[in-house]
Amino acid sequence: MKNVLYFVFGCFCWFGFSQQTDYVDFKSCRASIAFGNLQNKEVKGKAIYELKILKDTDSIFLDAQHFSEIKYILNDAIEGHLYDGKHFIVKHKFKAKTRHKLEIVWETSPKKAMYFIDCDTSTALSMTNTSPQIWTQGQGKYTSNWLPSIDDMNDKIEFDLNVTFDKDYQVIVNGKLIGKEERLNKTTWHYDMRKPMSSYLVALAVGKYKKNVETAKSGIPLEMYYYPNDTLKVEPTYRYTKQMFDFLEDEIGVAYPWQNYKQVPVKDFLYAGMENTSCTIFSDAFMVDNVGFVDKNYVNVNAHELAHQWFGDLVTETSGTHHWLQEGFATYYALLAEKDVFGENHYFWQLYEYAQELYEQDKAGAGTSLLNPKASSTTFYKRGAWVLHALREKVGDKPFKKAVKSYLKKHKFENVETNDFITEVEKYSKTDLSEFVETWLIAETFNYDDALLSLKKSTYINEYLKVDCEVYSSKCVDYLKYYASDEAKAKVVSQIPDKITAADFKNPLKVRQAIAKYVTNISPSIKTDYESLLDDKSYVTIEAALFNLWRNFPAQRQNYLNKTKEIVGFNDKNVRLLWLTLALVTEDYEPEIKAKYLNELTNYTSKNYGYETRMNAFQYLHQIEACNAECIRNLEHATTHHNWRLVKFAKQMLSVIKPK
Ligand SMILES: [Zn+2]
Repeated sequence: MKNVLYFVFGCFCWFGFSQQTDYVDFKSCRASIAFGNLQNKEVKGKAIYELKILKDTDSIFLDAQHFSEIKYILNDAIEGHLYDGKHFIVKHKFKAKTRHKLEIVWETSPKKAMYFIDCDTSTALSMTNTSPQIWTQGQGKYTSNWLPSIDDMNDKIEFDLNVTFDKDYQVIVNGKLIGKEERLNKTTWHYDMRKPMSSYLVALAVGKYKKNVETAKSGIPLEMYYYPNDTLKVEPTYRYTKQMFDFLEDEIGVAYPWQNYKQVPVKDFLYAGMENTSCTIFSDAFMVDNVGFVDKNYVNVNAHELAHQWFGDLVTETSGTHHWLQEGFATYYALLAEKDVFGENHYFWQLYEYAQELYEQDKAGAGTSLLNPKASSTTFYKRGAWVLHALREKVGDKPFKKAVKSYLKKHKFENVETNDFITEVEKYSKTDLSEFVETWLIAETFNYDDALLSLKKSTYINEYLKVDCEVYSSKCVDYLKYYASDEAKAKVVSQIPDKITAADFKNPLKVRQAIAKYVTNISPSIKTDYESLLDDKSYVTIEAALFNLWRNFPAQRQNYLNKTKEIVGFNDKNVRLLWLTLALVTEDYEPEIKAKYLNELTNYTSKNYGYETRMNAFQYLHQIEACNAECIRNLEHATTHHNWRLVKFAKQMLSVIKPK
């Protein structure tokens, strides 16, 4: 991403703001963060930077976006406060090879990069129904919105943060907790980092949390945070964490580079997860119970963010051109970790799905080179992963692993480009990779033909490709009766939903799920079997089956509703929201408490709930034309939320409900 600079004053243009790494190397930053009025998002900070001058210069700067107050003292003597709204500038005759201490004090109310969740009432901290959270997102948003730092990824700094907050809350930051001090009602948390990182990886999370701690084989503490009410979701959510951690340390061949590894769920997160150094923050939508685990779990995101601790955090791209060195590697190593957990078929299945997605992208004309900084996520992540799979297949396991290890060791705590990696692979494999680079990295389209050849080495994928009702229609129903993989059977169900018989329900969970999804017209001959889907341990199956049964058999609606009354579903309450909607539109169902159900459904549109829950609740209320004044107020309020998905959704729905 390129930063567009503008200047409040016209005079700060003595050198390009972007090439500062030639002049100065910021070494360390000890920062203290405290909060004022949470409703106004007030942040107060103080930081001491140690820096080394590389070339003579008469000024240096730090990025600092839209601060309300900021001033400095250089070397305990020279004071200043030159600030253009985006850069904080220190003018001084700096000599090469000198070291300096820069102390900065500031106040700000960040517009982005730090988010204040459920903090918008003055009594927020004492409220019981919602717990305030504060969390940060540096990548793409810039840490310099709350901490004067370096937006350029190429200057790595050792950050030690102290954070002060109400004593009943947990504060989680990069590095190791080395002490806590309590004064009055507040606790100051002291965290220590040992190694440098790019500023976008600085993170903090504040909230009400408990934690589980396990220890990796190598001795690294693995801290898994959760909301106090989520005890039952801890094991399913964090399942395989230690196994995958041990696996990746072993597979990568380079010890985990940081003091510990922490994972923190937060409300209304902007992405699935973010690999802040030693402190991954992820969406609490991934907190699942034992049933939810089957359909939607944290395992892949868990492995992906963990892999970034090496690929992204230990070695960091110099620019967006080399973004695949982060996302492609994280996606590939997550797949390897999942292969260790779920087996080889799972690995090939994921690769197959990635290849299909890339193929579709090219067909739509949206493909680009992997080295295009504007490439899509699909390209960076999935094509990037495919490059590594194909490269390993080409050069062999041993040279591949040696090259990765050498690449990480050579460039640790530094920045990297694609060539740094390719050079190592060429060296250890004694292979000229220019043709490989041309076809897999540089070409505008994904190398689908070679990918398919590679996939066909898996008998499981081969079988999946051969099971095709559109080609072999006469044999098709038989596939469901005999041995075929669940994925192949699910494909058959999607192709011939009208031919499903009672016997087909004897299949495992995933095939039954396909029946719930694709068999929407239920013939009386399979009614009883179809009803048994409501007992499956899958919220996706239950949601689809409930709706289809309710629609197909009006006389049985009361029974279906009574049977599923207590089920909530995923974190976004998928089953409960559908249930409430159906209860409201089933005329003779509990007419005396319909108002209560409408209240509950409307309440799910309020800011007390995560944005996925709110979007579903809005959608259902709109469908049954029951979005009342309160629902509309909540919808209007949603247009000012920090999450763009909710904002876009709310604006669209408002334009339909209240056309201008
Ligand atoms: Zn990633």
